[in-house]
Amino acid sequence: MRNLEIEDGPTPEQIKHVLQQSILRHYPNPERKGCLDSPTITAIAHKRLPHEDSSWKHISHCSPCYQEFLDCRKQFREKKARADLLRRRMRFALLVTIVVIGLSAMVILKSH
Ligand SMILES: [Zn+2]
Repeated sequence: MRNLEIEDGPTPEQIKHVLQQSILRHYPNPERKGCLDSPTITAIAHKRLPHEDSSWKHISHCSPCYQEFLDCRKQFREKKARADLLRRRMRFALLVTIVVIGLSAMVILKSH
């Protein structure tokens, strides 16, 4: 029996998970030295700060800030996914409305 995981290597998602767990374990910073404030972490999680910003270095070398960043990014992505779903549903509802109005107009015009 083949072991696909070993033969194919880890997926990008598995590598990302291992890296995240490593950052969360290896930079405890219990005194929270040099930690970022919540608005800065939120700005990073919402991709409002470029990767060149010095805050990224702290986030990737501080377990508590990294955990806050991951939580904030997860909430941001979930909120964005809900907004995208709502936007798609609204477009579909608009399309259905236009089709119904168009078909109704055709029926009314043909009946006269
Ligand atoms: Zn920190």
